[in-house]
Amino acid sequence: MKLNKEWHLAHKMPANPTTEQRIVWHIEHAKHCQCRAIPARLKAEIEKQNIKTK
Ligand SMILES: [Zn+2]
Repeated sequence: MKLNKEWHLAHKMPANPTTEQRIVWHIEHAKHCQCRAIPARLKAEIEKQNIKTK
């Protein structure tokens, strides 16, 4: 597992993120860091909303 520390320091998750904020964060995160995968529940939401992840 690769952790992009600099990206994490520059992209903190908001304190009380909305689903939309979490989706945006995770999509960006997946592009820059592989320390954790997008949670299954969020992935389902991304598919439901037809959001491009790549
Ligand atoms: Zn990460």
